[in-house]
Amino acid sequence: MSKADVKVIDHPLVQHKLTLMRQKETPTGLFRELLREISLLLLYEVARDLPTVMEEIETPLETMRAPVLDGKKLCLVSILRAGDGLLQGMLDLIPSARVGHIGVYRDPETLEAVEYYFKVPHSIGDRLCIVVDPMLATAHSSIAAVDRLKNAGAERIKFVCLLAAPEGIAAFAEAHPDVPIYTAAIDRELNDHGYILPGLGDAGDRIFGTK
Ligand code: URA
Repeated sequence: MSKADVKVIDHPLVQHKLTLMRQKETPTGLFRELLREISLLLLYEVARDLPTVMEEIETPLETMRAPVLDGKKLCLVSILRAGDGLLQGMLDLIPSARVGHIGVYRDPETLEAVEYYFKVPHSIGDRLCIVVDPMLATAHSSIAAVDRLKNAGAERIKFVCLLAAPEGIAAFAEAHPDVPIYTAAIDRELNDHGYILPGLGDAGDRIFGTK
């Protein structure tokens, strides 16, 4: 069994906001705003090792060499539909990021990946791809999404979620040991319907107010 590469972002601001999101009384608008704020904070950690290069600039007083981000713009890849809830905060932090979308799930009977949408920027192989989905539960859809991205040529991939279940982490690490997982918390377990306990409910419904 592969050892999972998991980083829990246990910053107090992230943990406080996550607690508010878990509460069932939290209304849709506030839930969405908290997710925007947390996703920005998560990306801040995920981006910690982005490469930089020195460039000559002019301050009002003199010239200096200063660091700027190097390489092609990174690509955020949302797993539809709940992944879209993580995009806004991340784009607030890195407005020039490219954005891809994947609609894919793994059929629970056949375990085959069923894709219904796939659109990513060109030169995906030259970009760091940050795949986002709030809940790493069974990991069926995230494994299938990363399979698909790798088939399209992606080589550097990170996976970011808000909550992860131990079962999902184990399955994801088994399938993609080269892809690190970033999460705000690891919860206890999955229930019989594949929901994370204690969790926060259905992330898509809570983001979009569909229940
Ligand atoms: N997807 C959700 O939205 N919530 C869960 O708890 C698990 C998967």
